[in-house]
Amino acid sequence: MGRYLRPTSLEAALSALADGRPTILAGGTDHFPARVTNAPDEDILDISALHGLHRIAIDGDTVRIPSLATWTDLIRADLPPLFDGLKAAARQVGGVQVQNAGTVVGNVCNASPAADGMPGLLALDASVELASAAGRRAVPLADFVLGPRKTARRPDELALGLRIPLSALPARATFEKLGARRYLVISIAMVAAVAEFSPDGRIARARIAVGACSPVAARLPALEAALAGKFPDPSLVMADHLTPLSPIDDIRAPAGYRRSAALELVRRAVAGLAQPEAAAA
Ligand SMILES: Cc1cc2nc3c(=O)[nH]c(=O)nc-3n(C[C@H](O)[C@H](O)[C@H](O)COP(=O)(O)OP(=O)(O)OC[C@H]3O[C@@H](n4cnc5c(N)ncnc54)[C@H](O)[C@@H]3O)c2cc1C
Repeated sequence: MGRYLRPTSLEAALSALADGRPTILAGGTDHFPARVTNAPDEDILDISALHGLHRIAIDGDTVRIPSLATWTDLIRADLPPLFDGLKAAARQVGGVQVQNAGTVVGNVCNASPAADGMPGLLALDASVELASAAGRRAVPLADFVLGPRKTARRPDELALGLRIPLSALPARATFEKLGARRYLVISIAMVAAVAEFSPDGRIARARIAVGACSPVAARLPALEAALAGKFPDPSLVMADHLTPLSPIDDIRAPAGYRRSAALELVRRAVAGLAQPEAAAA
């Protein structure tokens, strides 16, 4: 029978991780469903009683989403339009109960190819803050999630939170998700788009990421380059721009359907960048 640890201080949590490498538990919305039929004998480090890790805050030119901030905390946070796409994704994670319990950081650490937070966070250039008894480090999100259920986190490390740079230019952000039904569904494909705009309304910099169509959500650098200097226009999106994707056949959809759905979702996400109200849908 494993031990159940619920420390209240970060120091105690890091020391438990250094000693025994327990499994970290945050909201439990991925952890518990994965153990319904086969509960492993493991030590649990429940981090839900740690202080000071709930509040999403703007710190200078950075937004910090700490490890206990839930999807509901994100939806309610007072953030600039740059975050509208990530908030739209938050509203589509499970139902309200799951949004109340599940954390944004847990979504990332679980490293599911279908994690709805990943495209938006990649498009926001997020990095992951990691802490261990030996010290702290920051890893760009693109280097943190390495494959399905695989991250660059060492077993003695806790993810403290996510850091996202604010934009100096006006920005807009959108999110599009396709599932087999409208709500409470694992994604077949999802797309996040972020654009920073020059004063003339052209895109100064675009960041587009697609989820559930590759082992890890992927940015589309050729499309991002093609959009720079242009007004948001879905006709600029070409099938070739989706080359980084490698969709598979699975229980939710065949690969070919995923690829064509992703193309349509990318076009809709780019079209949405032209309409500030689109991201709030
Ligand atoms: C009914 C239902 C519907 C769902 N719908 C969706 C959906 O639509 N879209 C979607 O993307 N997800 C969905 N999920 C999955 C889940 O809700 C999210 O992935 C959630 O954000 C996970 O956060 P959590 O705090 O519950 O993580 P937990 O279950 O506590 O942990 C998840 C994993 O991350 C690790 N972990 C958590 N926090 C840390 C940390 N601070 N440092 C290091 N490792 C950590 C844990 O060890 C575990 O491996 C759904 C789940 C349920 C039960």
